[in-house]
Order: sequence, then C-alpha cells, then structure tokens
Amino acid sequence: MERILAAGANLTVFFYNPNIHPRREYELRKQENIAFAEKLSVPFIDADYDTDNWFSRVRGLEWEPERGVRCSVCFDLRFERTALYAVEYGFRVFTSSLGISRWKDFEQVTGAGVRAASRYPGLLYWTYNWRKLGGSERMIAISREEGFYQQEYCGCLYSLRDANRWRTSRGRPKIELGKKFYGNAASETSPSSPLPEPEPAPHRGPSPTPRARTL
Ligand code: SF4
Repeated sequence: MERILAAGANLTVFFYNPNIHPRREYELRKQENIAFAEKLSVPFIDADYDTDNWFSRVRGLEWEPERGVRCSVCFDLRFERTALYAVEYGFRVFTSSLGISRWKDFEQVTGAGVRAASRYPGLLYWTYNWRKLGGSERMIAISREEGFYQQEYCGCLYSLRDANRWRTSRGRPKIELGKKFYGNAASETSPSSPLPEPEPAPHRGPSPTPRARTL
C-alpha cells in the first residue's frame, strides 16, 4: 500500500480471500488489513467470505503441494473476482500483495493476475515485483512497527493441515491461531512455511499510469 500510494496511484484495497480457513483466521487477517487501510486513508472493499465457491474450484486438488496446481486455481479464482470488480467499478489497473511473500512463486502469482486481466480489454495487471528495491525489508519493518499478526501458514485448510503435519514430523507443536505477532522476538524465530525458500523473481515492469485507479 505504501509503495503504491508513493507512486501516485489512486488506491483501493479489494479483499477477496475465501481460501482462508478457519473463519477466525480469516477475520483476524481481514480486520488487520482494514485497520491498516484506514490508517493510510485507503478505501477498503470487503468482497465477503465466498467459501463454497473456493472449495468447489479446488475439489480434487486437496493433496496438491503448496505452489502446485491447487494454488494456481486459488490465485485464478481470486484474481478473476478482482478483475470483474475492477471492470464493473472503473478501475484500469490491479495488482496483489501475494507476490511479496518469499513463500510464494512470484511467476505463478503474476501469471494468474495477467490471465485474469486478459479477459477484459483495457484492464492491466501491474506485474511489478514488490520484493524489489527493499520491498521485502520494508514489509518486515512495517509489520514490526504495526505489530502485525504473523501468519504461520498460507491460508487454506490444506495448507494448515500440511504445515501441522510438517511440524508434527519434527516434534514441533501445531500452529496456534491468533498467537504470534511481529515485534515479539520469540515469534520471529521460526519459519512460517515448511517449504524451501524460492529464488527471487526479476522485475517484470510496466508501471501503471500515475493516478490510474488501482486495486
Ligand atoms: S496453499 Fe495458499 S495459495 Fe495454495 S490453495 Fe492454499 S491458500 Fe491458496
């Protein structure tokens, strides 16, 4: 949000994450996002908890590994909904905070965004890699300043299951929802995903037109 506002874009946050399970975790992540958007005077659109649609789309992919086919389907669903909203409400550009996570495959996220945008003439998915130019470090700094919730799994029921299986296999306790927050030294010592860290992805330009309405 900070970087997009600095670029001069007219930003609105669109929150559509029916993948997040359970509801308590969903509400925690959403309320934190609402509070930060309010702090920066950024409008926030709550697109609701459309879980039936999400479970329907990923049916048969329950045992896919993270960064596999289920994740592509999950990204597609969320970006398709975002692109539809953008077109309906006159936004010309949208992007996502998903790619800034080092646990995500940046190319996979970007590919889904571009696919969704290509459904509508004139709509652009902003492919900038938010990890670049100190973006990852700034994300951590803001998280500490704000005392943000530290997410310990990607979000869905299956990522929670797999993270807990990984922990159990190493003698570690299962994830306790709503317990860890940045700024607490003890909570920052353990990895938030059982997956190996991916290679960083290159910048993919282009930048949106300044003042373009951006989601
Ligand atoms: S692991 Fe994350 S990206 Fe993949 S399906 Fe689950 S919530 Fe979606």
